[in-house]
Order: sequence, then structure tokens, then C-alpha cells
Amino acid sequence: MMHITLKPPRVAYSERNPARVDAKPSERSMFVVIGRTSCSYAIKNNPCRFCAFWDKSPKIEGIAFEDALAKVGVAKGGRIELVGSGSIFDEEQIPLTQLCAMLKLVGRTDAHSVLVESRPEYITAEKIKLARRFLGSKTLEIAIGLETANDSLRFMLNKGFSIWDFHNAVSTIVDAGAIPVAYLLAGIPTMSDYETQCDILESAFTLSLLQKKLGISIRLAIQTFFTSLSLSSLAYLVPEFVAQLAIDVVQKTGMEVFVAPSSEGLTTHPLNSARAQFDLFNATQDILYLIRIKGSK
Ligand code: SF4
Repeated sequence: MMHITLKPPRVAYSERNPARVDAKPSERSMFVVIGRTSCSYAIKNNPCRFCAFWDKSPKIEGIAFEDALAKVGVAKGGRIELVGSGSIFDEEQIPLTQLCAMLKLVGRTDAHSVLVESRPEYITAEKIKLARRFLGSKTLEIAIGLETANDSLRFMLNKGFSIWDFHNAVSTIVDAGAIPVAYLLAGIPTMSDYETQCDILESAFTLSLLQKKLGISIRLAIQTFFTSLSLSSLAYLVPEFVAQLAIDVVQKTGMEVFVAPSSEGLTTHPLNSARAQFDLFNATQDILYLIRIKGSK
């Protein structure tokens, strides 16, 4: 019988930075996986407003997943994050055979946990069970780009799913033995500083209630980069402003927060000037590092 070697998808960009994993300071290794197509949601429904990523992936040659893993490395007890311009669980983008080949490689690493990014409609119990089979004792986290708990705002962003779709996906994730992660968007370009602060806090309160109601843990990642506009239009995305947002969420809700420091290789990230302090906060959850950012100006 002919033996066919299944190849994982290629990687457009990868990086490794400090993160808190299993309640301990550690590192995350993040891989932007190249899909067979652009984001299927964007093809069928037009891209989400301000998305800068949806059509990038198939145009980039990238490097083999194994090579990216070897180049970036994985911290013992760290986290591997598989993200894409769309959804890792979308079979039009990442065929099942490629997903399995990638998870098989990931399963052999010393990582403690593995995060997979997906839109809610592709998150099924079968997909999670399949992933967990390859990952053995590693923890599986499923991240959803919720952006905001406010349905009207998400509608304006053309995200194409409601808070109830998110709730259903969270239930599926938890019932299948994985951990939900929600990405919140700090800085929708049409919003003022005040509106952004209110929206992030309101969203965090909603998620912390859901967390308590379901008796589960949801991790928050505050994203500060999601735009095709020039950075000059994002004047309010200064480190001091984002540091205060993270302080508010940690102090008012007690949720674990990760301030996402990556622009996935597209351009310089607006938070780069305070990157070292954000990294230390991400690894420890100690808000003193955020207070230092605010005090540095
Ligand atoms: S935000 Fe995600 S789901 Fe929306 S268009 Fe961009 S890549 Fe697709």
C-alpha cells in the first residue's frame, strides 16, 4: 500500500514572547498558519470591518511548520498558539489532514497548552475531541475574536455572530474539555477613548459573569491592532491608555488578561515602546508593570 505523508500547513509568521501559562510565568510561541484560501467568512460575507489580515495568508509562501517550530522553539511548559487569517478549525482554509499533521507535531513538544483560534461556527465537539486526541495531556484553549460583548458594535464590525453564538461556542468548548479564550478589541477606530474604556469594561464584566455562572475560567486577550487604516489614525492606542484598560479589567473583574503585543509581522505595533513592561505583565499579571508604563510619561 502506498504511504502518503501528510504535510501540515506552512507558517507566514511566528514569534515567541512572555506569557502566563498554567498560572505560572512562561512563554507563548505564536504561529500564523497559512490557509489554503483567504478567510472563508470574508469571501462569503465581506471581511469584518477594519480587518487587515483576511486575504494575506494564501499570498505568502512562508516556511514549513516544522521549520517554524524549530526556529522559534517552544518553552517547556509554555503555550503554542495557532492563529490564522480566519479560523484554524475551518476545513476550507485548513483541510482536516493538514490540521491533524500540525497537531501531531504540536503534540510532541514540551508545551503545557495549545491555543487554536476559530470563529464560533467552526467550533464543534468533534473538532475539539480530535484535537485533544493529538495533544494528549496538553490543555487545549480555543480563542474566539469576540471583540466586544456589545451585539450592536459587533454588528457594525460585520463580525457575523451574536453574543448567543459566542455563549453556545463557549458551552461546546467547556463540555468538550477545553478552555475558552476571548479576544477583545481595544480601539475600534470610530470610538473615542471614553467609549473604548466603557466598552472594554462592559465586555469584561459580561465575560466575568459568564465565567462565574458556568463555573469555568475564561482568559481575556486585549487586542490593540485590527485595522487597515494608517497608524496615524490610532493616536489613542498609546501604551499608557492600554495599560489603564488592562488595570481596570484586572482590578474590577479579577480576570486573567493578556495584552496582545503582536501585529503578526504586518507593521510596527503601537505598543512597542512599552513592550518590555507589557511582556512582564503578561507573564505575571502584576499590575505594577502597567502602573510603571503610566508613570513613565
Ligand atoms: S476578523 Fe477574522 S473572521 Fe473577520 S474577516 Fe478578518 S480574518 Fe476573517
